[in-house]
Amino acid sequence: MSDSLADWLSVRAKSLEPSGIMAVYEKAHGMKDVIRLEVGEPDFDTPKHIKDAAKKALDEGFTHYTSSSGILPLREAIAEKIKKDTGADVDPRKEVVVTDGGSCAITLAMMAVLDPGDEVLISDPSWPYGPSIKLAEGIPVRYRLLEEEDFKIDFDDLRSKISSRSKMIVINSPNNPTGSVLDRRELQTLAETVIAEDLLVLSDEVYEKLIYDAQHTSILSLPKVKDRAIVVNSFSKTYAMTGWRVGYAIVNEAIAKEMAKLNLYLNTCSTSFAQVAALEALRGPQDCVKAMVDQYRKRVDLMFRGLQSMKVPCVKPKGAFYLFPDFSEFTHSSQEMGTLLLEKAHVSTAPGVAFGQRGEGHLRLSCANSIENLNEALGRIEKALSDLRKG
Ligand code: PMP
Repeated sequence: MSDSLADWLSVRAKSLEPSGIMAVYEKAHGMKDVIRLEVGEPDFDTPKHIKDAAKKALDEGFTHYTSSSGILPLREAIAEKIKKDTGADVDPRKEVVVTDGGSCAITLAMMAVLDPGDEVLISDPSWPYGPSIKLAEGIPVRYRLLEEEDFKIDFDDLRSKISSRSKMIVINSPNNPTGSVLDRRELQTLAETVIAEDLLVLSDEVYEKLIYDAQHTSILSLPKVKDRAIVVNSFSKTYAMTGWRVGYAIVNEAIAKEMAKLNLYLNTCSTSFAQVAALEALRGPQDCVKAMVDQYRKRVDLMFRGLQSMKVPCVKPKGAFYLFPDFSEFTHSSQEMGTLLLEKAHVSTAPGVAFGQRGEGHLRLSCANSIENLNEALGRIEKALSDLRKG
């Protein structure tokens, strides 16, 4: 028997850093009157017709295991959606794996393709892909996004980071935390790099429908790279279904088969009646998505204008529901800035460093909150900043 309980822990578990966002979440939780802008999930309720579909499935006894790849009708609906959105032909029986949200699809993909020591290129800043890579014993390697060019990929830097151990490049558009959107030209350059260097590309498209003044281009619309692409998507953001845990990957037959096998040992399958709800989300009316996107657009505009008027530099987001302003005028440490705003303004934010070293000096502000609360948050931040500027 070990003396210390921590001695039981694996090197793997200990190598994963705790979420930098959760720390803020826990601190803010114990305080009163805090406006929560660190939150990374829609504040809308799941649309009623989707909930009704799940209730009906429950009443009809659809409460058992499903295939580890997901129910076939859902895979078929996903393949149809891909065809409609991107023109790509996807075989629902062989190239679609339904997972417990996009997060699980990402981890399964890493586990299916990485050997110990394989390198995966992720952007700096980026949503935390590192832990999924490390779980699969891979090594995350960062490539730069250029803030001065609306967080576009720095391809020179990306190419310079490719080594003989590189296996995959991860892209995320629309991007969390920056709100940037990859255009077709950038995707084409990326596709050429992936082919020239004989790599895979994991394209995280979970925010694809939350888009303003831009167009989402899926990597699947570039046919030459389809066999090398692992597209991750989810019902969480588009349909406000974060708690339902349904996502999926579109990927070539060989990798899909391995992901389904791994899924069997990790989760068995995604929740049966949640899959039925996801099917309704795809097949049912889409005006709920438009209504939510219209709201997000108004909120993002409001926050962007507010930050501009406070003279806080910020790239205007083209998608997702976050802003990633630069507060380095006040302090380089995003943890310190986040604590300052939490204590002085009672506004909780996500520290930029949680997304990589190039996130330092920044805070991620989420627009998954009401216009009223966002207006109040802006007023409070303005006051706190003006006090700080006065010294
Ligand atoms: N990718 C990105 C960029 C995200 O922001 C998130 C969730 N915040 C996910 C994937 C995973 O979402 P889920 O597992 O709920 O589908």
